[in-house]
Amino acid sequence: MDFDLFVIGGGSAGVRCARIAASHGARVGIAEERFWGGTCVNIGCVPKKFMVMAAEYGMNAEDAPSFGWEIAKGPHDWGKLIAAKDKEIARLNGIYTRLLEQAGAKIYDAHASFIDPHTLDVGGQRITAERIVIATGGHPVRPDIPGAELGIVSDDAFYLPARPKRVAIIGGGYIAVEFAGIFAGLGAETHLIYRQPLPLRGFDEDMRVGLAEALTSNGVILHFDTTPVSVTADGQTKMLNLSDLTALEVDLVFFATGRVANTAGLGLAAAGVKTGPQGEIPVDALLASSVPHIYAIGDVTDRLNLTPVATAEGHALADSLFGHNPRTVSLQNVPTAVFSIPPISTVGLSETEAAAISEVKIFITKFTPMRHSITGRPRRTIMKLVVDAASDKVLGAHMLGEDAPEIVQGLAIAIQCGATKADFDRTIGIHPTAAEEFVTLRTQTRVSGPGEPTR
Ligand SMILES: Cc1cc2nc3c(=O)[nH]c(=O)nc-3n(C[C@H](O)[C@H](O)[C@H](O)COP(=O)(O)OP(=O)(O)OC[C@H]3O[C@@H](n4cnc5c(N)ncnc54)[C@H](O)[C@@H]3O)c2cc1C
Repeated sequence: MDFDLFVIGGGSAGVRCARIAASHGARVGIAEERFWGGTCVNIGCVPKKFMVMAAEYGMNAEDAPSFGWEIAKGPHDWGKLIAAKDKEIARLNGIYTRLLEQAGAKIYDAHASFIDPHTLDVGGQRITAERIVIATGGHPVRPDIPGAELGIVSDDAFYLPARPKRVAIIGGGYIAVEFAGIFAGLGAETHLIYRQPLPLRGFDEDMRVGLAEALTSNGVILHFDTTPVSVTADGQTKMLNLSDLTALEVDLVFFATGRVANTAGLGLAAAGVKTGPQGEIPVDALLASSVPHIYAIGDVTDRLNLTPVATAEGHALADSLFGHNPRTVSLQNVPTAVFSIPPISTVGLSETEAAAISEVKIFITKFTPMRHSITGRPRRTIMKLVVDAASDKVLGAHMLGEDAPEIVQGLAIAIQCGATKADFDRTIGIHPTAAEEFVTLRTQTRVSGPGEPTR
């Protein structure tokens, strides 16, 4: 065999797995067909956050005079932002390949597919491996409506030549609300079209309500309970026809309508690897596919599609196979963030999820963030704890507000350790912060439980 391990896909999951396996002494090869670092670095978390920051700077410039700065917000240079983002991403791409090479992995800039269960075609070369890891991630999909090809998906949004004047974003998930914040913050007329009454299905209801208010106060025009019907074009102008029989004239239609696993073109049938209904690869607790020596990690398994989960899986798999340290990755209490403006961050159960299981005590605070008591910007922070009534254990922490992801990361450790509300209460706050509110929440807002309305 040419390799002990061959990894298909050089994204968050694949790079971590290959690097750690090679550092454990395994002979490792890895193929990447597009860009090292994968979705997160090139067309996901990293460039997205730079763009959110750009939008926030505009708001900070508007707010600065309230603090005495004699500055006026000028126009935004989209080209300069994209060039700065591209420069940083090129640097990150280089770091990824260097890390792999330093660990001793052999890298291939090529497409890989199965010839048989132990043989791959890697850019026309036949390569054999004892074990193979599929870490091919996913890609965005457009809805099946006439004219869908006239719209873009998130992959394209990072390379637009100019900021559109009017944009319609279709979808209510985190990518949709994040880009709504970006485009509105950078000055575009921004419409958000989603089929539910509130964005972010699956998130805590209070956060969803708060986000809808925040989007509106940032100037995003919400079209809830609405779906797209068709798109037509007249030159550069697009007409988006909606299920409520209205039509929007915009310069950009952006479909943030979901993602599917990258498994087509991998030749999985030649290897006998089974896929799920959407093409995703089901795995067992040790990340093995239906073929015991072929594994799948990260977004291609379509479970919890987040970078830290992908890297944790890659690391655990390498340790299990070559590091004499067999271990699994728990998908319980994984903290997550939505980089809307302001952001949302959450760990553990929502009120609805927790109340379906047992009686829970709900603690909520809503307030104007300190800086906006001076700027007057209409912005609210919402913080919420979901506490098991019987055991006093904190089952969920949720926050909508500035710095929420930075704050909730710390709370995730406490919740992972099984902290109780009494533990939160005896923790001294840091003053003056928003974070201290999580340890001073004394007034119970309500009790929720099976069979009771949760709001
Ligand atoms: C717009 C957007 C924003 C996001 N924001 C966040 C965020 O804020 N926080 C967060 O945690 N997560 C975020 N995510 C999700 C995160 O990017 C993914 O969970 C993560 O990148 C998954 O890593 P992966 O290694 O499984 O897949 P990927 O990073 O997608 O890597 C897979 C790689 O495999 C390559 N490949 C595919 N097929 C082949 C083949 N046959 N041969 C060779 N190479 C192949 C692809 O080119 C790709 O580089 C975001 C995603 C998007 C789209």
